[in-house]
Amino acid sequence: MLVGGRRQGLWYHPASVRRFLIAIDFDGTITQHDTLHLIVDRFGDRSVWDRLTPDVIAGRVSVEEAMQAEFATVRATPDQVLELVRARAGVRDGFVEFVGWARAAGHQVRVLSNGFRVVIADTLGRLGLGDLPFDSHDAEFSAAGTRLIWTGRGERCALCHRPCKRYDLSAVRGDLPVAYIGDGVSDRCVCGAADVVFARAELADWLRQGDRPFTPFEDFGDVRDRLERMMGGHR
Ligand SMILES: [Mg+2]
Ligand SMILES: [Zn+2]
Repeated sequence: MLVGGRRQGLWYHPASVRRFLIAIDFDGTITQHDTLHLIVDRFGDRSVWDRLTPDVIAGRVSVEEAMQAEFATVRATPDQVLELVRARAGVRDGFVEFVGWARAAGHQVRVLSNGFRVVIADTLGRLGLGDLPFDSHDAEFSAAGTRLIWTGRGERCALCHRPCKRYDLSAVRGDLPVAYIGDGVSDRCVCGAADVVFARAELADWLRQGDRPFTPFEDFGDVRDRLERMMGGHR
């Protein structure tokens, strides 16, 4: 198993770690492809985002405002969106088996997403995981243009100044150590609150550049192997 960056602290204390809260990003982590990108590419106008990017970087427009402007161009019914996601998003290898293993081993598993409830609920339900808890935003898809519905996520995050997954995590973690699994920008801030981080793609690049410890993964079998070893071989 590859280990990215510095070794993670919990590696040295396997006897003390038996149960994790395993928090998993949805788009590009559970799915192979980001469903927001798929939806905009098929039903909307991606140039809106590109046009607003300089304003977002300069702080004149929030990420949420830019996303709403982008999704206002998405003209599709919920059924059309779900049909696209079912056909094109894909599920990362080993995900369903991983959740079964994790729960049987006594871990809590939860999805933390910046995506949309209607899409996540459909995907998890079709995988037989309709009871897996998740936090996300939502979208009201319509042929007249889509309206995004933002969850509260408490106050804006003091660290990243956005509605942030850190809030969702702090609300549910209790005393449990956290293993976080993700791939993108929305996972950056919350990673700092996790005890163990599994990362791929853009998130892995960002963590590597910052010399932050993480374990790279490509499928959920990798994650399971690593967690099993961390728990000192208790399976
Ligand atoms: Mg993602
Ligand atoms: Zn944050």
